Amino acid sequence: MSSQNEESQAQASTDSLSTPCQTPKGVHDILPDDHDYYTFIKKVIRHRARQAGYRRISTPIFEYTDIFARSLGGATDIVEKEMYTFLDKKGRSLTLKPEGTAGVARAYIQHNMSQLAQPVGLYYIEPHFRYDRPQKGRYRQFWQFGFEVMGELDPCIDAQVISLANKINEDLGIAQLFDIQLNTIGSQEDRQKYTQALKDYYYGKERSLCEHCKSRLEQNPMRLLDCKNEDCQILAELAPKMAGYLSKESIEYYEDVKEYLAELGIKFTENPKLVRGLDYYTNTVFEFWDAKEGAQNAIGGGGRYDGLIEQMGGPSTPAVGYAAGIERIIAHMKREKIRVPSKDQIHVFVAQLGKESRKKCLGLIEEMREAGLKTIGALGKGSMKAQLKLADKFDAPYTLILGITEVREGTIIIRDMRHGSQEIVKFDQVIDELISKIGEENLDKYSPGELIY
Ligand code: AMP
Repeated sequence: MSSQNEESQAQASTDSLSTPCQTPKGVHDILPDDHDYYTFIKKVIRHRARQAGYRRISTPIFEYTDIFARSLGGATDIVEKEMYTFLDKKGRSLTLKPEGTAGVARAYIQHNMSQLAQPVGLYYIEPHFRYDRPQKGRYRQFWQFGFEVMGELDPCIDAQVISLANKINEDLGIAQLFDIQLNTIGSQEDRQKYTQALKDYYYGKERSLCEHCKSRLEQNPMRLLDCKNEDCQILAELAPKMAGYLSKESIEYYEDVKEYLAELGIKFTENPKLVRGLDYYTNTVFEFWDAKEGAQNAIGGGGRYDGLIEQMGGPSTPAVGYAAGIERIIAHMKREKIRVPSKDQIHVFVAQLGKESRKKCLGLIEEMREAGLKTIGALGKGSMKAQLKLADKFDAPYTLILGITEVREGTIIIRDMRHGSQEIVKFDQVIDELISKIGEENLDKYSPGELIY
């Protein structure tokens, strides 16, 4: 090992020792209280996706960098600045997935999904990674769910995908908080013509552009349209409009999407400036904007990507998709004071004294759990007072108490923690007694489901 290497390793190990014991910048733990939200939201997504005939897919956390770099486009924020890219030990460049579509499109090609009944509807619920500047609603690891419908070109599907996204927001009580922004960016040919027109318009005006826009003009001039810089915005206002470059087919397609959305009773706002930023989009693009804060606090977005699968080496396959961020959904739910049921509240704490009682409790605890009673059996050796204190801390509504006398007499004590009252019941009947107190409907009965051999 070179001495420089040794030095940097030594440095790294002292660094790790002196690093405070906390998460890296921009990432966060999902603690049990928030998991109630994640669990609820994931259930809604799974349920609605299954109703639409979509099946779940998980692509790896990392892919070859090229999968993202080529499909998303070189002059995009994600590829330019936000990818977590690293070399593996053989020098291959890998990237933690910053978005879901490229990996799903890769899987469609790799697993010959064009041979399946089309369209293939897939959904995912996965962590994603972007080296974003951490701020409200923006993290470096975040959960996204998404749908991809591949193998059919029909505006009905675009409308259905938007409707499904809206339905999920309705299920979560937040649909009214969002404006659906809708636009068409035309076919690939339309866009080629339009981007050329934009370049022609901006050439000679470079001095008025911000540095960022200057660097993007060649590769991705459409991104200049949604720059927040004041001078760039003035120029963008006067720039040629996409509408002037749409083919007859693209216009018809867009008109159909709008008609089908109206048919489904979905309100939307046409936004000719919406471009979505990634190279792979064609025709329909849409985003769910926070009605108060706009694009800053968008919850999700999507669109058509008819050229992507072919561009990645697969068969020509039209497709449309949507992705939304779960942390932002939770933030909106909390802002609206929407809570979700927690299934974690325990039913019973078991307190005991002496080895004989402890042994008897072991089997009893298993039986109670099997019956659907959520039971904490810490079975420690603390005094009865200490155990009852612990039961209080766990917020158990009932505590079972088993001491030497009860073991000898074949009984057990049920203590109602809220009222401080106690009753002695037969040991064999304690489960039935507890169920009648807690209510059959509140039990957490679990069956692993039927195995098929
Ligand atoms: P995008 O494809 O970039 O529009 O992302 C779709 C959705 O994912 C956004 O509307 C957000 O809800 C969510 N999202 C994107 N980036 C982040 C991030 N860095 N942190 C949290 N959520 C994000």
